[in-house]
Amino acid sequence: MRHVTGPVAALALIAAYAAHAEPVVVEADGYLDVVTGRIVRPAVVVVDGEKIAAVNPTTRPAGAKVIALPGQVLLPGLMDDHVHLNYIIAEGWETEPVRFTGADFAMRAIPHAEATLLAGFTTVRDLGTGLGFSDVALMKAIDRGWVAGPRVVPAGHALSVTGGHCDQSTGLGPGVEPPEFMSGRADGVDEVLKAVRYQVKHGAKVIKICATAGVLSFEGPAGAQQYSLEELRAAAEEAHRHGLRIAAHAHGTEGIIAASKAGIDSIEHNSMMSDEAAAIIRKNGNFVTPNLHLIDTLKETELPPALAAKQAYLGPLAIESFQRALKYGLKVAFGTDAGVFPHGDNAKEFTARVKHGDTPLNAIRSATIVNAELLGTPDRGRIEAGLLADVIAVAGNPLEDVALLEDVRFVMKGGEIYKQPR
Ligand SMILES: [Zn+2]
Repeated sequence: MRHVTGPVAALALIAAYAAHAEPVVVEADGYLDVVTGRIVRPAVVVVDGEKIAAVNPTTRPAGAKVIALPGQVLLPGLMDDHVHLNYIIAEGWETEPVRFTGADFAMRAIPHAEATLLAGFTTVRDLGTGLGFSDVALMKAIDRGWVAGPRVVPAGHALSVTGGHCDQSTGLGPGVEPPEFMSGRADGVDEVLKAVRYQVKHGAKVIKICATAGVLSFEGPAGAQQYSLEELRAAAEEAHRHGLRIAAHAHGTEGIIAASKAGIDSIEHNSMMSDEAAAIIRKNGNFVTPNLHLIDTLKETELPPALAAKQAYLGPLAIESFQRALKYGLKVAFGTDAGVFPHGDNAKEFTARVKHGDTPLNAIRSATIVNAELLGTPDRGRIEAGLLADVIAVAGNPLEDVALLEDVRFVMKGGEIYKQPR
């Protein structure tokens, strides 16, 4: 057991080789049982290696190292199902796909990954700006202990129709293409199958497909369906054959309905979900991922006018769709689209969720047990014996003040401490 406190990335290198000699006991005022929705007081969490060995046991292991967190409440490590770690809206972002190499994207993701982990997010799904499989490289670097970051579920390149939202050269001149042999561009069932297989071959752990037009791309109209039901179904079936989940970017109603019918696991953004679409999603059991902090924070004035107009149109509809998702009792996952706003601000989504009608508990469940179900990772999302020791702490009761999650004081991932109060 060791503590990573200084230059985190450098020390994390050593962590990969450090032995976990002694068990560790984390003591706090309480912990949130996300299943029952209760704060259990006090909290004594015994960590052995990378897992939780016991919670509030009658006897403690001999010779354990004690981490005392007075005044703190523990929660399971948070999960964000929609980030872009190698991406940030900054000067010239529109042409990066043809100016950057995969190495550039991977290097830029390093501080973003660290900021995300230190904000309490111990698992993220990186949804497809992975040019050159930079997101797969990042996952490996983190798993090897080369750099500090959350557990990453990478999508590789997002699938897109030619000229679609996730075609990396939409808006550029004819012949201007990303340097890679094959990104995610695919038209028709055969190409879709090949593109899914290509992502799987090179390490994707989830598939992302762009079912409709988007905001931060130069095609229109906002929300228009881009992939047919047949193409979406082919992608979903192929992803599932490989044991992977599939996420669809979808703003417009027709695309949302097609994604649901195609068997897509999670519908991202889900901006124009009508009552009819909500009923279809409820019947099919897809997850939906709203990104409300993004809507509250995206500065339309900083976008090119055509993109700002799309955002101004879709933003209010997306908030209505979120409220409709609550009304219909849909499975609402937790995803932020971090990268469109600064990495590390992910927890602001909790505050936005509550502001727009959710309860703190429901929002926290989204980022823990709901996302664990969506990602197919039953080894995390709760503080429970046998699960991964991904544990965070905040200074008080997050059910009374959800904004406490924006100031995470303690972060443990797999038994390693990355942040701790002085
Ligand atoms: Zn996104």
